[in-house]
Amino acid sequence: MLTKPEVIDTIDELRSRLCLKRQNIASTGAEARVVLVPTMGALHDGHRALVRRAVALGEIVVVSIFVNPLQFGVNEDLDTYPRTLDADVTALAEEGATFVFAPTAREMYPDGASSTRVTAGAIGGLYEGAARPGHFDGMLTVVNKLFNIVEPDLAVFGQKDAQQVFLVERMIADLNLRVSLEVVPTVRETSGLALSSRNHNLDEPARAAARSLSAGLAAAASAALKGVPAAIVAAHAVIGAQTLVKLDYLVVVHPHTYLPVADDYRGPARMLVAAVVGSTRLIDNISLDIP
Ligand code: AMP
Repeated sequence: MLTKPEVIDTIDELRSRLCLKRQNIASTGAEARVVLVPTMGALHDGHRALVRRAVALGEIVVVSIFVNPLQFGVNEDLDTYPRTLDADVTALAEEGATFVFAPTAREMYPDGASSTRVTAGAIGGLYEGAARPGHFDGMLTVVNKLFNIVEPDLAVFGQKDAQQVFLVERMIADLNLRVSLEVVPTVRETSGLALSSRNHNLDEPARAAARSLSAGLAAAASAALKGVPAAIVAAHAVIGAQTLVKLDYLVVVHPHTYLPVADDYRGPARMLVAAVVGSTRLIDNISLDIP
């Protein structure tokens, strides 16, 4: 019989349940590390890998499920974003999460859009941030709120959202937050397609075309031996062959600055890609080693 995690929808209740849980564990002399996994729900095996890592790293695992209005633009899919709370709770019971924090937008933003925001800075306006103005300010604001509500020792994020990881890491450093970041590699279908809650929206032709993103990145990783331009050409050759894929950006960035690297750059890098496939916006990335 699986123990279902406690599902909590208010900040006060979560804080008091967490406090009690910490005290109970600490009274036995054991460690009581709190690990937070922020999500927007519609959980798939990618999210589950994050929760599994969280369970391995700490004694109390909080999974937040919150479709954060602040990080969606006016013409984006906030209203149609998949919401599957019951199935999510069942999956989280299987993975051994302790608490599910599923607040309403009103609970998180009682005055509507919160007046104070975290700003992501210049890198927050590039790549995903250029396509989705305000997205990263909204994301960092809610992540900061979740850190303050849960006070986790560790937070687990997926490499799938590479620019998000970069910006959260920088926020933690810039704002001296007392939390460590754990990053889990991207979980993929056997075809290579990165798992995403938005994959639900792909019909079969779009799904087949979407595979070109991971295939293009894999081609780039092989071609990286010959340098940055060769990697970019290799990815374009694979992705450009798909008429259903409307490429937004394909860029090679420095892992420490997230700025595009020069053509003659050598060293570790990351290739980021985003495209609209059918009507669904997808992102992916891969690490490149340019010798
Ligand atoms: P989301 O629900 O899309 O906001 O994602 C919640 C967390 O799950 C983020 O840290 C994502 O990077 C991570 N995530 C989403 N898809 C994957 C995947 N395919 N592999 C690994 N992590 C993922």
